[in-house]
Amino acid sequence: MTGLSLDGVSKVYGGAGVTDGPDSGTVALEDVDITVRDGEFFTLVGPSGCGKTTTLRAIAGFEAPTEGAVRFDGREMTGVPPEERDVGVVFQSYALFPHMTVAENVGYGLRFRDPPDGATADDRVAELLDLVDLEGMGDRDPEQLSGGQQQRVALARALAPAPDLLLLDEPMSALDAQLRESLRRQVKRIQSELGITTVYVTHDQAEALAISDRVAVMNGGRVEQIGRPQEIYREPATRFVAEFVGDNNVFDAAVRSRDGEYGRAEVGGETFTVPVVDGSDRVTFCVRPGGLARSADRNRLTVRVETSEFLGETVRVNGRWNDRRIVLRLDEVPDGDELTVGFEPDDAHVVDPR
Ligand code: ADP
Ligand code: MG
Repeated sequence: MTGLSLDGVSKVYGGAGVTDGPDSGTVALEDVDITVRDGEFFTLVGPSGCGKTTTLRAIAGFEAPTEGAVRFDGREMTGVPPEERDVGVVFQSYALFPHMTVAENVGYGLRFRDPPDGATADDRVAELLDLVDLEGMGDRDPEQLSGGQQQRVALARALAPAPDLLLLDEPMSALDAQLRESLRRQVKRIQSELGITTVYVTHDQAEALAISDRVAVMNGGRVEQIGRPQEIYREPATRFVAEFVGDNNVFDAAVRSRDGEYGRAEVGGETFTVPVVDGSDRVTFCVRPGGLARSADRNRLTVRVETSEFLGETVRVNGRWNDRRIVLRLDEVPDGDELTVGFEPDDAHVVDPR
């Protein structure tokens, strides 16, 4: 088993390979520090273009960092080619070999590496097909399988040589929503059964929270926050994380007075009691939709209702207050076009405004 780290990794495509100045190219990664623990399910999440694939390719050895180092169990991997890194990779497109059967696809990596524990290649292929719930499908051609089944073949192929690390780059994004959920449960089950250190890439924040031990939220080539799903959701470090992960309401306010950890902060002509930070006359705080309640009698604001989305258990209400978009969670569709809600100071969470 293997832990993994990226230490100060930057990647610049083109230009003179520098991160700033007139000769800079495209900065895909900037000073990325990530440590993935042995056996962990670790996810890189962020919008398209934020550097997720580049990070994964640097780990796999397909791309050399411009600066910094990738280490496996502390061992620097600079100069070690992909085929000597002991990683299994699954890409977004299934990338199965179309002229080979399913079994030949799964066994492909065993041409270069012996199966583990002295197994024969045939046994290992059967074992892997079993693991991904495709037993008996070995003789089929990839084109006879559904998208979800093809992706499971790709997963079995990546795992067959018993790699130390499993890397998955948006493996679900070509599948429809229902299949995505069932495949995601399968991937999670297989990962924990094998205990294999896994780095998973997705742009889908809900998927990241659902599947991961820990998550790195990326934005513009940088890591904004690393934490367990609950930490990322409940204690977003930055405005970007607050807005990217789940629904949120972010307010920029001017601090008018202080009393210990709390203060009075003004935004849009209203003054709210919220936590404040030492030494700053501004505070950026967020309140989750669930924190804005009709029953709360502190920090009241009246929201103009624009749309309501019935979600089954709850209703998501989108509205405006003072030209700001506000998202609420209610039990029922509101009947009027205005709604007054409030929040407790402890439901406001301070974020870095950058
Ligand atoms: P993500 O996977 O998060 O969508 P990528 O890692 O693919 O992001 O890309 C990060 C940035 O690097 C983007 O601006 C992208 O356009 C750029 N980039 C990626 N690959 C290359 C390349 N081979 N040459 C030049 N620019 C690239
Ligand atoms: Mg990508």
